[in-house]
Amino acid sequence: MCSPIGHGLAGIAVGLISRPGFKGGFSFSLYLYAFFSANVPDLDFLPGLLIGDINRWHHSYSHTLFAALLYTVLALLAARGFGIKKWRLVGWLSLIPYLSHLLLDYLSLDRGAPFGIPLLWPLSDDYFYSELLLFGAIDHGGFGATNTEALIDIFNYANLLVITRELLILGLLTGSIVTLKTIYSRSRPNQDQ
Ligand SMILES: [Zn+2]
Repeated sequence: MCSPIGHGLAGIAVGLISRPGFKGGFSFSLYLYAFFSANVPDLDFLPGLLIGDINRWHHSYSHTLFAALLYTVLALLAARGFGIKKWRLVGWLSLIPYLSHLLLDYLSLDRGAPFGIPLLWPLSDDYFYSELLLFGAIDHGGFGATNTEALIDIFNYANLLVITRELLILGLLTGSIVTLKTIYSRSRPNQDQ
């Protein structure tokens, strides 16, 4: 798995930049929402945290295409319910960053069995795991680790190196594209969004 920073950067990259017509200049709240959506799958730590077994449900139901669609539908319903005009954008920034999380986890080192993510659940219980590993693994305790053990494991030098690698790859890529598109947008006002 990548860190929340890596997932968030990837969510911004694919969520905002890939949107048709995007040329930069979105508001901070949209960047923040894309960052959040890209980290929603890892909220599966929370129920485990409550019972003192933080990894109990990690890399399970929330790391599936089904969960990505469910999150998007709920976000769309909420956006419509709250009368948000750009509800389609909310849907886009829910689905695409969520999918980017699944892709990054698929491309990341996983040290604990079952390896990978159950992408097609409930259609299949198989776990999917790439042979090509672009990113390292954030240590967070093994399966069955207590909350305290997991927290101690998170703050280690190896995790710092993994995050540094993510920042170099995803940070530079995202930052460069957003900057270039924002400059382009300012040179052509009223052409976007
Ligand atoms: Zn994950």
